[in-house]
Amino acid sequence: MHPREWIEIRPQGVYCHPGDFYIDPAQPVERAVITHGHADHARAGHGTVIATPETLAIMRARYGEDHARELQQPLNYVEQMDVGPVKLSLHPAGHILGSAQALLEYGGSRIVFAGDYKRSPDPTCLPFTPVDCDVFVTEATFALPVFTHPPIAGEIAKLLQSLRVFPERCHLVGAYSLGKCQRVIMELRTAGYHETIYLHGAMVRLCQLYASLGVPLGSLEQVTDANAKSLGGKVVLCPPSALDDRWSRKLPDPVHIAASGWMRIRARAKQAGVELPLIISDHADWNELNQTLQDVGAPEVWITHGREDALVYEATKNGFKAQALHLLGYEEDDSE
Ligand SMILES: [Zn+2]
Ligand SMILES: [Zn+2]
Repeated sequence: MHPREWIEIRPQGVYCHPGDFYIDPAQPVERAVITHGHADHARAGHGTVIATPETLAIMRARYGEDHARELQQPLNYVEQMDVGPVKLSLHPAGHILGSAQALLEYGGSRIVFAGDYKRSPDPTCLPFTPVDCDVFVTEATFALPVFTHPPIAGEIAKLLQSLRVFPERCHLVGAYSLGKCQRVIMELRTAGYHETIYLHGAMVRLCQLYASLGVPLGSLEQVTDANAKSLGGKVVLCPPSALDDRWSRKLPDPVHIAASGWMRIRARAKQAGVELPLIISDHADWNELNQTLQDVGAPEVWITHGREDALVYEATKNGFKAQALHLLGYEEDDSE
């Protein structure tokens, strides 16, 4: 039976009828399968939540132990679970720690919801694995040819270079608190930077959680009123919204840096007052999106949040049957 017969788009989100569950619903529901911990995919207040153990841990850290009213049901990568007559399994998506693609098998057909994903290496999570299916559901956050993400090592090298050129200035990096922050830290370590890295208070818990889940982030310290003045020549990470607010003014002559896929757009960096834009994204770029359609090889592609039209056009040109799902509730996140 074709997935269009048993997958419905409802106001709450994508609904699997025979299994009676939603995938990444935008509102609280009885039973939800959650692909990863970002706020537009993982919300508090569902009855039962099925997700990887890491995603459940992230949801507990963000929303409290009781974010699910009834049950938190962990499902390890590749293991299969029966949800009614539907066989469900989760597969690495390469987006953030614990991120998963959801494979649903029912009535002789297979559909994969990729959630958010990327193909470039990330030391904080397992790499995306293409899963054989009849329908592949993909995001389209950076689905325009202008969006190409360079290798991250080069972007990290720019940050280290700036530290050498401006040894007195605090290097303040705006990065999304979940995923991007920890990836930037790990890449700095890989590049040989082993000094203490300083954190905005909003990032401390998630970094501790990553470390407790086996991602070695090295020496970290929270920025306080007591140490702020002494952070010249140091790397400080903060949420993008804190780059230019009152909090950042206590730091000594900060270089404003942002780590985001949107930094490909010069005007956007300039408008945000960013001195040193680093093009670092946890989403697939235009080439990775199209390469992934080839690698997965599903004859049919459904496209969710982002620049749907451009990807529908390109996928159709490349011989896929493609359509946009027009889901609501997944905002364009400035910080991704
Ligand atoms: Zn995400
Ligand atoms: Zn998303």
